[in-house]
Amino acid sequence: MSTKSARPSAARIEGAVLQRLKQAAGAKGWIEDEAGKAPYLDDFRGLFHGQTPLVLRPANTAAVAAIMRICHEASIGVVPQGGNTGYCGGATPSPDGAEIVLSLGRMNRIRDVDPLDNSITVDAGCVLADIQRAAEAAGRLFPLSLAAEGSCQIGGNLSTNAGGTAVLRYGNARDLALGLEVVLPDGQIWDGLRHLRKDNTGYDLKQLFIGAEGTLGVITAASLKLFARPRHVSTAFAALSDARSAVTLLARAKNLSGDAVTTFEYLHRACLDLVLARDPALADPFAARHDHYALIELSAGQDVIEAVLAGAFEAGEIADAVIAASGTQTAALWKLRETIPEALNHAGGVIRHDVSVPLSRIAEFLDAAHACAQATIPGVRITPFGHIGDGNIHFNLVQPEAGDRDGFLARSHEIEVAIHDIANALDGSFSAEHGIGQLKRGELARYKPAEAREQMQRIKQAFDHKGIMNPGKVL
Ligand code: FAD
Ligand code: ZN
Repeated sequence: MSTKSARPSAARIEGAVLQRLKQAAGAKGWIEDEAGKAPYLDDFRGLFHGQTPLVLRPANTAAVAAIMRICHEASIGVVPQGGNTGYCGGATPSPDGAEIVLSLGRMNRIRDVDPLDNSITVDAGCVLADIQRAAEAAGRLFPLSLAAEGSCQIGGNLSTNAGGTAVLRYGNARDLALGLEVVLPDGQIWDGLRHLRKDNTGYDLKQLFIGAEGTLGVITAASLKLFARPRHVSTAFAALSDARSAVTLLARAKNLSGDAVTTFEYLHRACLDLVLARDPALADPFAARHDHYALIELSAGQDVIEAVLAGAFEAGEIADAVIAASGTQTAALWKLRETIPEALNHAGGVIRHDVSVPLSRIAEFLDAAHACAQATIPGVRITPFGHIGDGNIHFNLVQPEAGDRDGFLARSHEIEVAIHDIANALDGSFSAEHGIGQLKRGELARYKPAEAREQMQRIKQAFDHKGIMNPGKVL
C-alpha cells in the first residue's frame, strides 16, 4: 500500500486563477520554480511524491482566507502543509498537479503568553520547539514533545493530534488545545481562539479540526494550555525482566509517585543494538544484555524513583536500572531512545507500524506480532519501541541484514495487514498517533466500522461540500 508515484505533472489550474492566488498570497508568498517547490512535494519518509503548479506561503490569516475564497470559487484542491514531518503522506499533493500546497511556515508569530491564565496563543506555523521555548521564557511548560519538535509546526501537531513522549501525564495535542482559529473551505474565518477551561455551549467545534489532517479547514492559530514547570524531574533507564513487567512497573511508578510519570518509553534490545552501532558516542548503560528496556521519567524527586526501582527489583520486574545523576546523564539516556528512528533508517528498509492496544494486552501483542513477523519474513530484524505507557508501540521491522531492500519493502502491505489484524483482534488501533493521510486510507476502510465512516463522510460534506480540503486524504 505504500506507493511511490511519479506521474507527470498536469497543471490543470488556469493561469488567471494562479495569478489571483499569487496576488492573494503577497509578494513573498508564493513559489513556482521547480527547485523552490521541490521540498514541498515529497513526504518525510520518501513514500509519496506529488506535483503542484504553486506553493503558497501566506503571511497572515487574512491572506489564507483570500486564498481559500479563490480556491473555493474555482474548485481547486488545497493541501495544507506544516513542517512536513508527518508519517502518512498527509501533506503531499497528488501527482497530477491539480492541487495547490498551502504552507503555513511564514505564520510563525507567538501572539500572546499569559502565565496567570496558563495559556499561549500562537500562529499555526510556529515550530513546536519555539513554543516550548516561549513557554519556558514565561516560567511555564508546554509539554507536547516529540523527536520532530525542531521542525514540525503546531498546526500540523493539532491536525494530526500528535502524541509523543509526555502523553501519559499531559495528554496528546487534542488535550492541550483551548481554542482555534480556522479558515473554512469557503474562506470564512472562524475565530474560536478562547482561553476558557470550561465552555459548554453546544458542539465543541475545535475538536473536529483537531486530528482532521487538513480535510475540514486550515488551522491558522491556536490557544494552548501551559503548565507549571515540575520542581523535580528524575530519569531512569531500566532493564525489564520481560515485556509483561513494563505494565506492572508502570502501575507501580504511577502509584508511588502520585501519578507523576511523564514518560514511560519501551525499547527492545534490537533497537539498542542499532542505536549503539549508529552512534559510537553512546554507551550501553549495563554490562549485561537484556531483551527489554524502559526509559522512565517522573516529575518527582530521586527518592521516589529510587523507591519505585527498589520495589520493582524485589518484585522481579526489573533486572537492572540506572538513575541519571546529572543533566548530561539524563540527556544521554534520552539519546538512546531518540536515536532509534535514525538508527533504523540507517540499517536498511523499514516497515513501520503505529499500533495501540489496551495496556493489559501489550505483552500479548508483542508476542503475537513477533511470531508473525518472524514466520512471514525469516531473518527480519524486529525492532519495536515506543510510548508503551500509552499502549502505543511502533512495531517496526528492519530488513534482514543480507536481504534486498526493495524485495523487503514490496512485502509491506502483506505484513502491515497481518500486524494490524493482531492489534485489531486485541481491541487495538492500526494508527495510534500518526493519523491516516494517504498511506492508511485502505486500513481505515478495513478496520473502521461502516457507521463510523459514514458519519465522518457527513461531517466532511457539511464543512467541505466541494471536497477541496486536502483531497484524497483520510477518507
Ligand atoms: P505536516 O507533516 O506538514 O502535516 C501533517 C498533516 O496535517 C497533513 O495532513 C497536513 O495537511 C495537515 N496540516 C498541517 N498543518 C495544517 C494546518 N495548519 N491546518 C490544517 N491542516 C494542517 N508523531 C507523533 O504523534 N508522535 C511522535 O512521537 C512522533 N515522532 C516523530 C519523530 C520523527 C523523527 C518524525 C520525523 C516524525 C514524528 N512524528 C511523531 C510524526 C510527525 O512529526 C507529527 O505527525 C507532526 O504532528 C506533524 O507536524 P507537521 O507540522 O510536520 O505536519
Ligand atoms: Zn511515536
